[in-house]
Amino acid sequence: MERKVLVTDIARFCVNDGPGFRTNVYLKGCPLHCSWCHNPETIDPEPEIYWKRRLCTQCGKCLDACPKDAINPPVDPSLTRSEKYACHKIIRSRCESCMKCVEVCPSGALQIVGQPMGITEILDEVERDRLFYDNSGGGMTLSGGEPTLHVRFAEDLLGQARSRSIHTCLDTNGHCVWEDLERIAREADIILFDLKHLDTRKHREQTGVNNEIILENLGKLSSMSVEIWVRIPVIPGFNDALDYHRHVADYLAGLPGSIDRIDLLAYHNWCQDKYGWLGRDWIYRDVEALDPNLLEVHVRIYRKHGFRATIGGSGFEEMESRRSL
Ligand code: SF4
Ligand code: SF4
Repeated sequence: MERKVLVTDIARFCVNDGPGFRTNVYLKGCPLHCSWCHNPETIDPEPEIYWKRRLCTQCGKCLDACPKDAINPPVDPSLTRSEKYACHKIIRSRCESCMKCVEVCPSGALQIVGQPMGITEILDEVERDRLFYDNSGGGMTLSGGEPTLHVRFAEDLLGQARSRSIHTCLDTNGHCVWEDLERIAREADIILFDLKHLDTRKHREQTGVNNEIILENLGKLSSMSVEIWVRIPVIPGFNDALDYHRHVADYLAGLPGSIDRIDLLAYHNWCQDKYGWLGRDWIYRDVEALDPNLLEVHVRIYRKHGFRATIGGSGFEEMESRRSL
């Protein structure tokens, strides 16, 4: 039987996750729990349920269908339209994910997050935009969550994409066994390596794990003959100080091998609806998005060290250079 993993989304025409137009494949499950996470639906490795309260008519069909008494009873719909309404439809402590409520919901207010997909099904979807890849130097980016949680699947998916002549990027946080990362990395044309913080205490506070394995893996990767783009999410109050970025630039310049590019990704809060749909609090809810223009001074630090560096990670500055190869 074909192996399947949970996929939260296959997003077409992405432009900030590798060169050219890309199709991003998001796998579910991540060993880190970054407090600012922009894709909270990818953290839990199990299927979850979105409740989109603005679509809910409070018909009560989910309540009748639930065998575990895990649904809050209907309320006046005008209440749930208020931003202040905090009660989620599903009582997660009782839910056993049978998905019967999703099946009966007539309005699409309840949706399953995480669909099991096999490699052929994913690649057939990715193939739809081959013309755009050919014209832009794009391809498939395997992301998450953390793809290295699914070692064999990730390795085979990237390998089979390559055998179809699709350019591949692996987006990883690097928190995994080195041998696993090495195997998967060999099937990728570019590694997009997320670097959250060099200080392990701060890293643990905001992501739930220490950073030693991550930094060790980055050093080893840099010595491999694989292209690496380090991606730094710049989070207000966490890692946005200029002195910190001078320190990172020194650190990256001192790695045993080379880094091909550095992307500074400004914190944003476009994901806050997802936290609401999942019924989760988000400590960054009231933190304003960071103006990317404020990172001009940060990006210059990396350029002074001789790095190719961008704000936002656009893949289109790569397009012309790759076309002329
Ligand atoms: S998934 Fe099943 S157990 Fe969970 S709330 Fe829905 S019907 Fe109830
Ligand atoms: S079945 Fe759907 S529309 Fe009806 S109360 Fe439940 S979530 Fe709302």
